[in-house]
Amino acid sequence: MLDILIKNANIITMNDALPVIFWGCIGIENGKISFVSDKNSPEMQIAAERIIDADGNIVMPGLINTHAHTAMCIMRGYADDYALNDWLFKKIFPVEGRLTREAVLAGVRLGIAEMLASGTTSFSDMYFFEPDSAAVAAEIGIRASLCNSVLALGDDYDFEQDRAVIETRALIRDWHLAANGRIRADVGIHAEYTSRPEHWRKVSELAEKHNLVTQIHLSETKRETDECIARYGKTPTEVLNENGVFNTRTLAAHGVYLTKQDMDILAQRGVSVAHNPVSNLKLASGIANVTAMLKSGVNVSLGTDGC
Ligand SMILES: [Zn+2]
Repeated sequence: MLDILIKNANIITMNDALPVIFWGCIGIENGKISFVSDKNSPEMQIAAERIIDADGNIVMPGLINTHAHTAMCIMRGYADDYALNDWLFKKIFPVEGRLTREAVLAGVRLGIAEMLASGTTSFSDMYFFEPDSAAVAAEIGIRASLCNSVLALGDDYDFEQDRAVIETRALIRDWHLAANGRIRADVGIHAEYTSRPEHWRKVSELAEKHNLVTQIHLSETKRETDECIARYGKTPTEVLNENGVFNTRTLAAHGVYLTKQDMDILAQRGVSVAHNPVSNLKLASGIANVTAMLKSGVNVSLGTDGC
């Protein structure tokens, strides 16, 4: 017997040959779709433990939010009308330094509720208390790829004592591929401008050792890109690539200020770019050239960022 039979659904299949099935049905068994059929098929009559009458509503694959700081939904409306640098260093980082575990987890629950309400069933997250967030995501049943990113500010920075590194190791140990594979541990580098090459190489070693995805903010603002060129004589994409950050699968958020050469590097290295239009406009960061990225062969996905 099927676990679930969804009937009378207008099904968006994402299959080019058969894009939409009107008033069709979907059978689910052991957590997986076992068939998708039209309204005249015999499957429509198969017994199931639970029958859902979609009554003509749309059923489609879940949306994927590929760049989020989920708990930041509780800060929505705080620190509006700032450009990224002031927003981050003067407003957000000081507040985040005082956020309790309870506050973050309340934000994670609210953020996941918002995602599910919009049809988003999978998300990539970069924040704190990620092992606890993994437990919340596992309990709710959403799919999540989580990381706490390295932020190496200050001269006394100690990689092994960084809370991000300690949390990342715990996440890998306790949560990677947990909840039937729905939870994944990623590693994270906050951005080029908040850490140095020796830290990137250590994060990348961790990614390579455990075959993990690396999440990073990349060329989000003109200032970030200009300062990187002044520091290294290279763009963020070039300097990160030369230091091995793209050696494992990488998800780079933003890519607003990429050169054609940067796009070619990202395409060659298989780096995906999470495009966050609402965030980029809220912080007046700019408008990413998605068309040029796609023409260069870069895989582009969508994210909400901390909005
Ligand atoms: Zn972000």
